[in-house]
Amino acid sequence: MEELKFYTNKYYRNDLNDKLKSEYVTALKDPKFKALTNKFKLTDEDGMKYTSKLEMVVSNLKNCERCKGLVECKNEVNGCVYYPTKVENGLDFNYVTCKYKNKEILNNKLNKSKFFGLSEDIKNANMSLIDDVDFKKRSKVIKCLKDFYDNYPNEKKGLYLHGSFGSGKTFLIACLLNELAKKDFKTILLYYPEMLSRLKASFDGETESYKDMLDEIKTSDILLIDDIGAETVTTWSRDEVLGTILQYRMENNLSTFITSNLNIEELETHLSIVKNNMDKVKARRIIERIKQLTTDMEMISVNRRN
Ligand code: ADP
Ligand code: MG
Repeated sequence: MEELKFYTNKYYRNDLNDKLKSEYVTALKDPKFKALTNKFKLTDEDGMKYTSKLEMVVSNLKNCERCKGLVECKNEVNGCVYYPTKVENGLDFNYVTCKYKNKEILNNKLNKSKFFGLSEDIKNANMSLIDDVDFKKRSKVIKCLKDFYDNYPNEKKGLYLHGSFGSGKTFLIACLLNELAKKDFKTILLYYPEMLSRLKASFDGETESYKDMLDEIKTSDILLIDDIGAETVTTWSRDEVLGTILQYRMENNLSTFITSNLNIEELETHLSIVKNNMDKVKARRIIERIKQLTTDMEMISVNRRN
């Protein structure tokens, strides 16, 4: 019995070795396979060890060569290429995202960041959710938003909507913007205080992502700057961030909505930080831009938050 087992194992080993060798030799006839072994400076022993995996890599790469986008991806894992990396004692194989997948990931990231720091009910706000509580008091605002919906993009002027906490300012504007997003307009809703801290974080870290983020905000078709006045003002946030965004949107005639608990005069005071003359001029300049971009409107209603 022992003898038989020994015999089988030995026989099996030789057989396997021959098989691997012949598979490797055959695979090497493919210039792409050969190129891979060169690229990773593989010994014949390694080449033999990884033949079938490397063949999979080659087949993935060949699929990619002819591919024009994710919908026609022929690889086992959509948008991914099976690919080796050199490690200490050989090769490590992983699925690596392709250029189309990377682009999709980037786009999704940008789509998601359509909302900066706003709650789920604001993300899901839509016209059908608007209820009748206090309708009369808010009807002027609702009419304005409806007009905007009907006339956009011929009419582009947004609102500066101010009023008490919890009156539904953010909710109503989110309804409008979410409906317009369904029509494929690029909308961004950002909770201003949080956007500033995010921008600041990306600014401290990678300059590139800071620029991308600011560009994205600056250039969106319709923008909501939510809860301005709740932030801690610095010259950076006022002049570099807010000033830049508003200036760009004014020059390019892009729709901008702003909500605040402060009316426009109170906002001006809020924006004058050190309150010397230069500072007042800067605050004034922001207010002028806001006035150009928006119609001033007050929202009176009960506090809807529970
Ligand atoms: P504000 O921005 O004025 O502080 P919000 O827009 O955040 O107030 O509204 C407060 C809460 O009331 C939110 O949770 C929102 O979902 C809800 N809400 C506001 N207006 C309406 C409405 N017309 N219909 C239904 N829910 C509303
Ligand atoms: Mg709000």
